[in-house]
Amino acid sequence: MKPMTVSSLPVATLGLPRIGPKRELKFALERFWSGQIDEALLQNTAAGLRAANWTRQEMAGVIEIPSNDFSLYDHVLDTSVMVGAIPPAYGWQGGEVPLSTYFAMARGAQPGPANACGCGAATPAGGVPAQEMTKWFDTNYHFMVPEFRRGQTFALASRKPIEHFEEAKAQGVTTRPVLVGPVSFLALGKSADETLDRLSLLPGLLPVYAEVLRALGEAGAAWVQIDEPCLVLDTDERTRDALRLAYETLAREVPSIRLMLTSYFGGLGESLDTVARLPVAGVHLDLVRAPNQFQAALAALPPDRVLSMGVIDGRNIWRADLGHLLDWIEPVVAARDRVQIAPSCSLLHVPMDLESETALDPELRRWLAFAQQKMHELATLGQALAGGRESVQAALDDSADAARSRRTSERIHDKAVAARIEAVTPVMSRRAKPFAERQAQQRQSFALPAFPTTTIGSFPQTAEVRQARAAHTKAEISDADYEAFLRKETEAAIRWQEEIGLDVLVHGEFERNDMVQYFGEQLAGFAFTKSGWVQSYGSRCVRPPILFGDVSRPKPMTVAWWRYSQSLTDRPVKGMLTGPVTILNWSFVRNDVPRSVACRQIALAIRDEVLDLEAAGARIIQIDEAALREGLPLRRSEWQAYLDWAVESFRLCSSGVGDATQIHTHMCYSEFNDIIEAIGAMDADVISIETSRSKMELLGAFSRYRYPNEIGPGVYDIHSPRVPDTREMVDLLGRARERLADGQIWVNPDCGLKTRKWDEVRPALVNMVEAAKALRKTSGQAAK
Ligand code: GLN
Ligand code: ZN
Repeated sequence: MKPMTVSSLPVATLGLPRIGPKRELKFALERFWSGQIDEALLQNTAAGLRAANWTRQEMAGVIEIPSNDFSLYDHVLDTSVMVGAIPPAYGWQGGEVPLSTYFAMARGAQPGPANACGCGAATPAGGVPAQEMTKWFDTNYHFMVPEFRRGQTFALASRKPIEHFEEAKAQGVTTRPVLVGPVSFLALGKSADETLDRLSLLPGLLPVYAEVLRALGEAGAAWVQIDEPCLVLDTDERTRDALRLAYETLAREVPSIRLMLTSYFGGLGESLDTVARLPVAGVHLDLVRAPNQFQAALAALPPDRVLSMGVIDGRNIWRADLGHLLDWIEPVVAARDRVQIAPSCSLLHVPMDLESETALDPELRRWLAFAQQKMHELATLGQALAGGRESVQAALDDSADAARSRRTSERIHDKAVAARIEAVTPVMSRRAKPFAERQAQQRQSFALPAFPTTTIGSFPQTAEVRQARAAHTKAEISDADYEAFLRKETEAAIRWQEEIGLDVLVHGEFERNDMVQYFGEQLAGFAFTKSGWVQSYGSRCVRPPILFGDVSRPKPMTVAWWRYSQSLTDRPVKGMLTGPVTILNWSFVRNDVPRSVACRQIALAIRDEVLDLEAAGARIIQIDEAALREGLPLRRSEWQAYLDWAVESFRLCSSGVGDATQIHTHMCYSEFNDIIEAIGAMDADVISIETSRSKMELLGAFSRYRYPNEIGPGVYDIHSPRVPDTREMVDLLGRARERLADGQIWVNPDCGLKTRKWDEVRPALVNMVEAAKALRKTSGQAAK
């Protein structure tokens, strides 16, 4: 640990964005994967980003600076690799894990000698799919799900935490390395063998953790931040036993290392007492999400433990009211020796720096803080606590001013929106007819074959598409030229879909930068950044809109593109919208009204669009709710309240249409067994859903709940460059037919295809159409 300076209280960060302020890592990764740069150059870029982050934190006045928060793809994948939890399919033979194996786990690998990830190493014949990916708690960050098997052994297989510690040290920064804790690592994993109790693997895993801690100690680390975010979930006695075992073992085996046990995204709840008694040197609490746990934590935590107060919101971009925070923290610091000030969680989930956002409205900009500004807020708090408020008076005054201006600004409150919300009646959230009657009308109107084929919406966003968009944004090409280009792309996509025989077409979404941003940009109440990128998975980043005020839709958003696309073909083209819950969940949301209220405002705006599409002639309208599940509160006791308003919002936006208009929705996650009733309650005529990565695992839900409407369980994992063959898809559909009636089943990929290349998409969709045709031949025989 660095010597504590007298002028400040220890200020910590728990992790920084790793993608780079200009997404340098993204571009390096993608060049590497496509064979344009070699591993050395990729590693060089990565090292540069780490160095810059360490410097950035030092300059800002952060005392406890993390290392090993950086990852080339995902920190949970890093952990699997660190402990050698690598499924046999990846062909790892022991020893240091090569980058080719790492990326095969992340992205899958094509068969044959030339590896799809561009690293040249041979891959197992037949190729291998990527590990499963899922959302990191209730964020839009995705992690690679660790995979365990019976008899799983662990061995140190990557020294990355130690290497990065040494790298920082060589730069003159003694860091506090971050590790995903052993209990969360096991708890977040999965096993093909459902009877395997993952926590039973803990005794085998702990020696590897001890080895890492020991090596870190030898390298000069005094503290290690160990993340156990699973503690904010509902935990049982088994988990708490595991926790005791883990930290008692590590304290005994490596007494020289002081652990900062870190949880975030919620309160410790029933785990609080256990945590307070663990033999760790410090405990970090998320006091933004769970301020209520503070008094109890204060009482339970022995005075010799360092208390890390997570008071700056790591999940949102609003500036803190520092004076207000000090009112709260000052008495704690006065009464207690060992206190640190920190963000609520890693700053991974906010953009790097507001500085470059010169185009933002100045009034709004004053209300915001990104990672860089949050570090300054922390440093200001630290200084005020050590040297008195006067020592940072100007900064405190400025913070108070900004908070006041936000509370009273007229840019935020729109009377017309309030009036519309008032006027919403229950009838507005119900389709006029029950599903069976709608289905009969829709069948007559569309005359689709059995097992109709469709895609989720987007087609590859090629370099050409992205370049054209960038050139248009920079005004290098005219509106008319850009429009002509998009029309050409759209027309080609429509023609190609007709050619390969898809039944329900999409326009390809070439005009969209992102499924949420595209709508946010056209809605009142949203603002956008130029480079406020946040990592979503691997090299993929999003720029979440900032929902700062009341929402309304000044004019139609998608009707012109739909109309053009439909004019090109006789087959139905879906109108394609993003749903209110997803827009909400993928935005940085105002924190001055409940989320349910903000969501309902968006629902009314989307409803306007749905009705305009229908009026223009659209007979199928898809409203994506990709992010519905990730908005679920982490504690089950809070689920129903969320689902109630989320489902209600979806229904409010979708229920204004006639019976014959077919409403589709799409969700891209497979773990929906536990909310299947709520998904049924959305009453979409058709839902498409991710299932291929988990090999149709979701269908388990249908043994206890009969999904009433139509459903397309995804048969093509679009997160991987791998092209599935027809037989594989027929197989997956065969499994679906064991649980669903033939008349319910649609055939589609897992998700949109924007991140894929045409070379991957073309053969995959041709195979998919073949699979549907194969099924049609057998239809009726296998139906239940
Ligand atoms: N319609 C969107 C697309 O195809 C859906 C994406 C998503 O669900 N994430 O890109
Ligand atoms: Zn999806």
